[in-house]
Amino acid sequence: MKIKKRFWIPLAILVAGFLIPDPGIIPVAGASRSDWHADTFWFEPWGSSVTHKGIDIFGNKGTSVIAAGYGIRLFEGTLPKGGKVLIYLGPRWRIHYYAHVDSFATSPHWLVSPGDKIATLGDSGNAKGKPPHLHYSLVTLIPYPWRIDQSTQGWKKSFYLNPVDHFD
Ligand SMILES: [Zn+2]
Repeated sequence: MKIKKRFWIPLAILVAGFLIPDPGIIPVAGASRSDWHADTFWFEPWGSSVTHKGIDIFGNKGTSVIAAGYGIRLFEGTLPKGGKVLIYLGPRWRIHYYAHVDSFATSPHWLVSPGDKIATLGDSGNAKGKPPHLHYSLVTLIPYPWRIDQSTQGWKKSFYLNPVDHFD
């Protein structure tokens, strides 16, 4: 079967995304599995979002926020809910979303490796008035329909992954 060239190139790019190693580390320096609540992922009710599609890692304001994996920066700026946020595209076509940070790392970080400092932990956006924490979400652009379950908004689990499952 002959596949046209215009299909080969995107296909090669798509496949390449799966060939990059994808280690996952907890994106707050010095944090451990005791720094988030066991049921933080998909906690409900969660305001206008209905369910909490990520994990909240608590820590002291100013603690280093580090890249959870390899990534290409897509966005660094301010959003209404997330406050100061960073968005990276990582291996396996996954989006890494970091929110409520206090400040961004000063050096240019458009390409990051696991453990690179990208920001400091804070309480920006709708975390204002709450204990400082990093909100971290891991989203796959390629849906995993087998992850859908009967929970509220369960179909969204084909996109929003539980980050805890991906920490080494
Ligand atoms: Zn959160």
